[in-house]
Amino acid sequence: MAKLYFRYGAMGSSKTANAIMVQYNYQERGQNALMLKPRLDHRDGERIVGSRSGLSAPCRYIEELDDIDLSGCNCIIVDEAQFLTKAQVRQLVDLVDNRDIPVICYGLRADFQGNLFEGSTWLMAWADTVEEIKTVCWCGRKATFNARVMNGRVVKSGEQILLGGNESYVALCRKHWASGALAPIEVRRISQGKRAYLPLLMEADPSERMIERYLDSGELYVLLADGQTASTAVIQDMGNGVIELCNIATAKEYRGRGYASRLVRQLLSLCHGRCERVEVGTDEGTVPFYERFGFQRAYVRKNFFAENYDPPIVENGVTLKDMQVLSLKMH
Ligand SMILES: [Zn+2]
Repeated sequence: MAKLYFRYGAMGSSKTANAIMVQYNYQERGQNALMLKPRLDHRDGERIVGSRSGLSAPCRYIEELDDIDLSGCNCIIVDEAQFLTKAQVRQLVDLVDNRDIPVICYGLRADFQGNLFEGSTWLMAWADTVEEIKTVCWCGRKATFNARVMNGRVVKSGEQILLGGNESYVALCRKHWASGALAPIEVRRISQGKRAYLPLLMEADPSERMIERYLDSGELYVLLADGQTASTAVIQDMGNGVIELCNIATAKEYRGRGYASRLVRQLLSLCHGRCERVEVGTDEGTVPFYERFGFQRAYVRKNFFAENYDPPIVENGVTLKDMQVLSLKMH
């Protein structure tokens, strides 16, 4: 007997990554698992499910379900199932009961105000199996709420679904959702929407062309102070046991508080066990900053700044010319 599953969890609980893994497991056994998601607006968006960890897979829209040939379909997986309508959940129930196809739905339980979504309501009511995928609040308690954060503040009013807005969501425990307290200091890896950080990244490296060379392939980390982006940094695996640390920038209003140092220290601990040495290329004036972490002068890239930057970079009245490359051995 096929079953209807609802696996719910707060933002960042790896629901989409789980969905993609389940599909992969079916494919590994030579079986077919159809990936679906609700179409959220009338534009013809991308038929792709994507997780924060960077995994993605092609999918179809649940609105197209009537046109999809389900013969040979061993399982249906639905991502973003909170956005299903009652009728769509009903349609899935019928597939389970009448076609004997298992359906696994992944979604949020409640919206940013703590109200059930339509899809979650009916999945909670009708699923054979309801399972929680857990994640934690910054305080260590279980995160059960999804806070909508705009300009670094938790907001409690607005439309249930905002399309194309500049809001973000953070999983919090009930207590911190209620009080609106975001982590005082938090480092996060950014996998999607990296270009939104370009203005800050360009403060450390004024050449967008240079940033483009490592932004996609590198790992972007940000330090959030009370939910606001204070510092950024990128690490990039250069091969041969070398990780390059680049683009350490701190927004003007957050300078002088040690945030960049904190971010560098955390990234260096991340690099432990991943490489033999960490390298950073910088100008003479910033060398002492890195020496504090144990970096040592390795070599000089003559005229690097002079040849790669037009207009030239001027720091404290000095036009940058050579790049000093520093190296730190990881033990
Ligand atoms: Zn908490």
